[in-house]
Parts: sequence; structure tokens; C-alpha cells
Amino acid sequence: MNSNNPAPCPILARLFSHKGEKPTPSSWLRPVFLFVLLAASLSLAAQTPFETPGWTKPFPPFRIAGNLYYVGSEDLASYLLVTPQGDILINSNLESSVPLIKQSIETLGFHLSDVKILLISHAHYDHCAGSARIKQLTGAKYYVMDADVSVVESGGKTDFQYGDQADMYFPATHVDRILHDGDTVALGGTVLTAHLIPGHTRGTTTWTLDETEAGRTLHTVIVGSPNVNPGYKLVDNKVYPRMAEDYQYGFSVLNFLPCDIFLGSHGGYFNLTAKYPRWKTGDRDAFIDLAGYKAYIANREHAFLTELHRQQAGSH
Ligand SMILES: [Zn+2]
Repeated sequence: MNSNNPAPCPILARLFSHKGEKPTPSSWLRPVFLFVLLAASLSLAAQTPFETPGWTKPFPPFRIAGNLYYVGSEDLASYLLVTPQGDILINSNLESSVPLIKQSIETLGFHLSDVKILLISHAHYDHCAGSARIKQLTGAKYYVMDADVSVVESGGKTDFQYGDQADMYFPATHVDRILHDGDTVALGGTVLTAHLIPGHTRGTTTWTLDETEAGRTLHTVIVGSPNVNPGYKLVDNKVYPRMAEDYQYGFSVLNFLPCDIFLGSHGGYFNLTAKYPRWKTGDRDAFIDLAGYKAYIANREHAFLTELHRQQAGSH
């Protein structure tokens, strides 16, 4: 999950922010606050932490470029790469997303059972909770960045931030190949490169590949997540001491990736809902957006630095 998406209910985000802040409503506000709290806790039965309506809202599947297809929901992005030797799926999303992903793949005329390799953007449940089910349905091999492997294989229990929050757990899933920064994943002529962009999780991965469309080579970037979640301790973090340095390293990589097609683990990163209508009316360049990529990374780096300076000022 990430903090960059608009939360439908700020109280929900607050409940799970782990900021250690206690709301201090004045006495006349207290009944209102308790009511909102009750409503929020009731909604938890149906919603997972951080969930927004876009996570589970179906979205039309479509071909982005070359052999790359969008098969995610409105906000939880999943990508299918179709090759002559089987397919690669990036992001399994929520457990409840799996039937949606399957439907999207079938609508495009492909088969979930052809998925041979499963990849993820990072080890948070909104991108990897469906992995155990996808593996079961397809027999796909699961490739995960080294620093996220223990989180994936423990079902979230070793996460530095959420390891003690049972509502953030997901089905523990065996990893078949451990990836390292710069590793490539190849199948049927398609080659992806795994870039370690740590901070959001220790093993957050930005995927790059070159697509060919109408005779052009298009550098494609699928951003893992550069976001600092509420409650992340960038300063004096005993569990993850190098967190701030990791974010800084990640931005130094993201700032120099060549990018034509800008994508990410959430539709919100690259403005999916605004670009798709353009694509639908025939603009096949709708997702070519270097300026949007640069602006997004600059915006997220600024947000990171602002939060870092806020925490540094508070620690003195
Ligand atoms: Zn996340």
C-alpha cells in the first residue's frame, strides 16, 4: 500500500498510521468522534487497512504497447507480458483480486494458466496477497527481490513496519527465485530488469523493459513505490536504520531511468483513469509520458525530503 492514494476515510488511515498520536477532540466533539470511530471499525469487516474503492473496482483490460497488457483494477495495477513461451504476470494484488485478474486476462483472449513467472512491485498485501492463489492456479514460479523474500515467505510477519499487525498479513508464499538488484528476468524474448528501490519496503522493485510499438523502442518503467507511509520512522529507526539512505539511493536511481512509458504499482501513480479514455479513443501514445514520470518522481522526492526534515527537526 502507499500513502499517495486518496484514502476514502481519513480515520481509517489514522487508525493504522501508528504515529502514536492520540486524537484529542474537545468534549462536544467526542460523541461525533466515537461515532466515526465505530463506523470506521464496522467498515473494517469489509475493508482491509488503507483500502480505497479503486482497489477492488474492475477496470477494462487493454494492450499498453507491444506484448504488455494492463490486467489490474482501477488502482491496483497488474501487468501481463505475453510471450511465445508463456506469460509473465506482475502483481497478484489482494486475495480477492485473483478472479478479477483472471477475468481481465480471459477478456483479452489469453489464459491465466499460461502464466509461467509471477513478479511483484513490493511485499505489501495489496500487491502480493494473491500470489499463493496464482501459484496454485498456474504453477508459475515466483521471483522476488532478495530483501523482500522473508516478508513474502512469512506472510508479512517480518515486515519492519507492519510485522505486528495481523490485519496486514497475507498468505505466506514460497519464493522460487531470489532476485538481486540489476537481475534480469527473461522469457520468450521478453527481458525485464529488476531495480532495487528500497525504503517503502526493503526490497521494493521498479521493473523496466523495452517495448516495441510501431517500429519504435519504448523504454517502459513500472515504479514499485517511492512513498513514505504514515508512521514510517526515517530518523533513529532501530529496526531499519538505513531507511532514509535507502530512499535517497532509490531516488538517485529513479531520477536517471530512461522512461517513455510511465507505469506503476498503483494506477494513481501514472494517472491511469485520465489516460485510459485517451487510449480508448485511439491515442496509442496516451501512456508515453516522460514529463509525467519526472514530475511524479520529483513530487515524491520532495514529499520524502519534507518528511525527513520534519522528523529530523523533531528529533532534536
Ligand atoms: Zn506498499
